[in-house]
Amino acid sequence: MIRIIMLGAPGSGKGTQAQLLSKYFLIPFISAGEILRQEIKKNDKTKNYIQNTINKGKLVKNSFIIQLIKKKIKKKKYCNGFILDGFPRTIEQAESLKKNINIQYIIYLKIKHDSIINRIQGRLIHEPSGRTYHKIFNPPKQKNKDDITGELLHKRKDDNKKIILTRLKEYEKYTKPLIKWFRKEIKKNKIKLLEINSNKSITDINKKIIHYINNFKK
Ligand code: AMP
Repeated sequence: MIRIIMLGAPGSGKGTQAQLLSKYFLIPFISAGEILRQEIKKNDKTKNYIQNTINKGKLVKNSFIIQLIKKKIKKKKYCNGFILDGFPRTIEQAESLKKNINIQYIIYLKIKHDSIINRIQGRLIHEPSGRTYHKIFNPPKQKNKDDITGELLHKRKDDNKKIILTRLKEYEKYTKPLIKWFRKEIKKNKIKLLEINSNKSITDINKKIIHYINNFKK
């Protein structure tokens, strides 16, 4: 059983690393942002609320995302562990997670804000599956096409300069304080925290994370 949380600013590579770790450890990953984007497609009464909030770069209400994540992690698919990308993003979300499950590893990807804008602007997504790519750092095999289905890739609407500035403000205000919260938790519980500089290559970062986790599993 491995449960991993990916922490870091938007564009720090959480999603990319979560996808690679998922392949290596053979456990599924859960992306909070992706759950919300899939909810928008369901066309029910919360569609406009989610879409407007994401497109402003703001965080959705705690109670809203908590309820979606709780429902998700109860599914059988996740009973042997999972990698959480984009949740928790606030202390309230972390408190609620703590009440429901134990987490073993926290991977905190550190990045300078000026690198984030460049990274985010080259990002591409395969909308039906949520698979992500980057034009330069993680290109698809065929230009602008998903590696698995061959379908077209798109740029996320909230991956633009103006919105990313709001997303970074939200990160500083709500998510950064979580690191301190987790540091206290680490002392009390048996959580392991790995902090990595995210300016290294995707492969280097991935190797470091795998090495770190495997050392504990021995
Ligand atoms: P992401 O795909 O992780 O970049 O998330 C995209 C957007 O979804 C964020 O900018 C928020 O608007 C929303 N979102 C994702 N995760 C959360 C969360 N844990 N709490 C609140 N809002 C979230």
